[in-house]
Amino acid sequence: MPKTIKKLAVLTSGGDSPGMNAAIRSVVRASAYHNIECVGVYRGYEGLIEGDFKEMNARSVRGIINKGGTILKSARSKEFRTKEGRQKAFDNMVEANIDALVVIGGDGSFTGALIFNQEFDFPVMGIPGTIDNDIVGTTHTLGFDTALNTVVDAIDKIRDTASSHNRLFFVEVMGRDVGHIALNAGIAGGAEEILIPEENLGLERLVDSLNRSRKSGKTSSIVIVAEGDKIGKNIFQLKDYVDENMEGYDVRVSVLGHMQRGGSPSCFDRVLASRMGVKAVESLLEGKTNYMVGLLNSKMELTPLEKAIKGKTKINLELLRVSDIMST
Ligand code: ATP
Repeated sequence: MPKTIKKLAVLTSGGDSPGMNAAIRSVVRASAYHNIECVGVYRGYEGLIEGDFKEMNARSVRGIINKGGTILKSARSKEFRTKEGRQKAFDNMVEANIDALVVIGGDGSFTGALIFNQEFDFPVMGIPGTIDNDIVGTTHTLGFDTALNTVVDAIDKIRDTASSHNRLFFVEVMGRDVGHIALNAGIAGGAEEILIPEENLGLERLVDSLNRSRKSGKTSSIVIVAEGDKIGKNIFQLKDYVDENMEGYDVRVSVLGHMQRGGSPSCFDRVLASRMGVKAVESLLEGKTNYMVGLLNSKMELTPLEKAIKGKTKINLELLRVSDIMST
């Protein structure tokens, strides 16, 4: 028989993403709705180790659904990777009468939560918050949709200047291991080519494609490059390569960087965060532990943390084909 949960804690960990505040709000309000107490933990696992807690009620989370970042702050904690660090975290939670923990973060944060559960038999539930959309068990992670909109907005602006000057732009977007942002934003922004980590198209194909675009009368070209692209050259080397090997191009580079993580969450992310927070709290109250909540086939579903951590998301091959056809 699982222990009755009377008080839970929520924290945000790892890289921040838009929608984390909306998820905190949802966890706090779902707790209030079910008459259980809720504690916010500052700076992720660091705050757990230091006992940096704040009692929260439904009113503490007013006015944050539209805010980017995380009011609880986020951190990466070396100490939580040690048994001693996790023991301190456990002792603090016992002292504060906390019975369960909701972790909003990426796969690293979930790994920490799972280890913590295995050591102390402490109920944990994950909410996937990362813009990369690289977690198995949900079609959308929190922040992915907002980041896509930010990137598309940036591409549209770059297109204005690219076409005014007949320029070729290489635009780097986030995605060290996965190309979900690059592929989706590339299609939405009308990119001529999209380079992603899952596929190495090779330099030749890139050159052919750019030449074809020019012959077909295009006045500007935008190539979206995911950070982890495997073509073997970084974005500045790609520019140099085109400068050296292709005539008549005025090539520019734009690295979008951390702006992709910021901003007010989209409607989609706010709704997703609200649903995920409710599902996380109610699943813990039902006695479930070691799961991540996610969106699958339009429904809130649970995926074992172990599976979410170990799995690798796949790129949608249909999108790749659509992108090829659209760049005709
Ligand atoms: P992002 O997707 O933005 O990288 P993340 O959650 O994967 O987010 P990480 O930096 O990998 O971010 O992990 C966040 C924190 O989780 C770490 O700083 C650490 O405290 C904890 N953590 C990660 N892996 C482990 C582990 N093997 N054991 C204990 N704690 C861990």
